[in-house]
Amino acid sequence: MNLEDAGFSTKLIHAGEIEDQFGSATVPIYQTSTFRFKSAQHGADCFSGASDGYIYTRIANPTIRALEQNIAALENGFGGIATSSGMAAITSVYMALLNGGDHIISTAAVYGPARGVLEQDFARFQVEASFVNTADIEEIKKAIQPNSKVLYIETPANPTMEITDIAACAVIAKEHGLVLVVDNTFCTPYLQKPLDLGADVVLHSVTKFINGHADIVGGIIITKESVLYKKIRHCMVYMGCNMDPHQAYMVLRGVKTLSVRIDRNQDNAIKVAAFLETHPKVSWIKYPGLASHPQFELAKRQMSGPGSIISFGLKGGLEAGRKLMDNVHLAVLAVSLGGVESLIQHPASMTHAGISVEDKQEAGITDDLVRFSVGIENAENIINDLRQALEKV
Ligand SMILES: *Cc1c(COP(=O)(O)O)cnc(C)c1O
Repeated sequence: MNLEDAGFSTKLIHAGEIEDQFGSATVPIYQTSTFRFKSAQHGADCFSGASDGYIYTRIANPTIRALEQNIAALENGFGGIATSSGMAAITSVYMALLNGGDHIISTAAVYGPARGVLEQDFARFQVEASFVNTADIEEIKKAIQPNSKVLYIETPANPTMEITDIAACAVIAKEHGLVLVVDNTFCTPYLQKPLDLGADVVLHSVTKFINGHADIVGGIIITKESVLYKKIRHCMVYMGCNMDPHQAYMVLRGVKTLSVRIDRNQDNAIKVAAFLETHPKVSWIKYPGLASHPQFELAKRQMSGPGSIISFGLKGGLEAGRKLMDNVHLAVLAVSLGGVESLIQHPASMTHAGISVEDKQEAGITDDLVRFSVGIENAENIINDLRQALEKV
């Protein structure tokens, strides 16, 4: 079936489907490390590229390929490269696009390890990195050097919820010959399509919304065209960052409900945000769906919905944050986001507890900040749970 003009939800269900000899309705798990060649000639053809037969699962596998084709169709890309984790997707992209002596410009509040691996590991190979507030286009322009090769952005950024203008970044990237990479984990292609806005590469931690059920870790990279696709896939295969067929099957199952899940996550988040905005113990709230968000207009233009991640501040700082964590019962006290279940996190006492005050400040992480990933439970239950926990703060 030609899905070119099909709607997003139709693609979720059918893009990447395969026909096998048994007429399986879902993509089976091809749990095999290697593939039988029909003859010496067939083996030679598979290696030379004259045949597109499978060789070895680190290189390619039918279950993994089905997922890669599915997500590439959703992002309007040339092809997908599935990886063992979101971080494997990020490091494969860095490895493929950066040489010693090159420079990358990245969002300051980017996912912690995506910054750490540049500062601690790629630095050992003379890769230079600048971390700037990419929500301010002038800051990006100021950071460009003659050896700049990649502009890497995460929008909305985590947990500050700051938004970077993807189309404006694409213009700058083109002007200066930079590859524009966007981490689209928070929005998924249902809410934001970076390749349509001019990005060259999109990547995801599929651990979050795309799989959506908090039961696997995985990642994927999608490129706009074939040259970058081949370059990044080559690196991924050589480094052995591939996804496993069982993982791919789980994600294929999870992604089918992406649009219905996000619709519900988001409806709930809008209600939770309205509740928090007027609560006397909440000092501030950042959610792209509220007119109080500093980039509300950009969010409306760039995203087809505000999503379901909310950051808010508690009067009473660190202690208040701890109290809230110990009194929520419905929301799971855990890192990660984008699942069917509500998840709550207090960075200052949890994920960022070991980080210096200056580094926390620079990343916009204050002691009072709470991050809430709104699930698909009944909205009144989520709100009542927060209400009773806030009473104890
Ligand atoms: C979780 C996350 C990652 C890392 O993904 P893993 O699957 O945990 O390796 C990268 N970027 C963002 C925005 C994330 O939320």
